[in-house]
Amino acid sequence: MSFHPLESVTGAVLIPALVMLIPIHYGALLVVLTVMTIMGVTNHMGWEIFPDRLVRGPAGKWLITASHHQRHHEKYLCNFGLYFRFWDRLCGTDRGLGTFETLPAAGQRSLRETGHEVGQLP
Ligand SMILES: [Zn+2]
Repeated sequence: MSFHPLESVTGAVLIPALVMLIPIHYGALLVVLTVMTIMGVTNHMGWEIFPDRLVRGPAGKWLITASHHQRHHEKYLCNFGLYFRFWDRLCGTDRGLGTFETLPAAGQRSLRETGHEVGQLP
C-alpha cells in the first residue's frame, strides 16, 4: 500500500480542524481541496498524465508530477512533495524522476524478470 490509512485519517481531521482556527473563504477552501485531490490522484495513478516535454522541461524542474512522485514510492526516503520540488531541493531529498514499469498480466513474468527495458516489447 502506498498510502497509509492513518495518513488519510489525519488529513481528514486536520483540514476541518484548521478551518475552525484559520478563517478561510469557502471558495478558497474549495480551490485548495480541488488542487489537493487532483494532485493526489494524478501523482498516484501509476502513469504520467502530463506530456514528456512538460515533465522533463523547465516546468518539470519546479512542478511535481507522477514521474517525480513515483521515485518516492520506489525509494521511500526521497521526493516527499506533491506540488512543488522546492522543499525537496531545500531539504536535500529530491532524487529526480522515477520510472513506471508495466505490470505483468497474470501468469506472465515482469519486464525486470525477462531482462527487457521499460517500453521495449518483450
Ligand atoms: Zn504517494
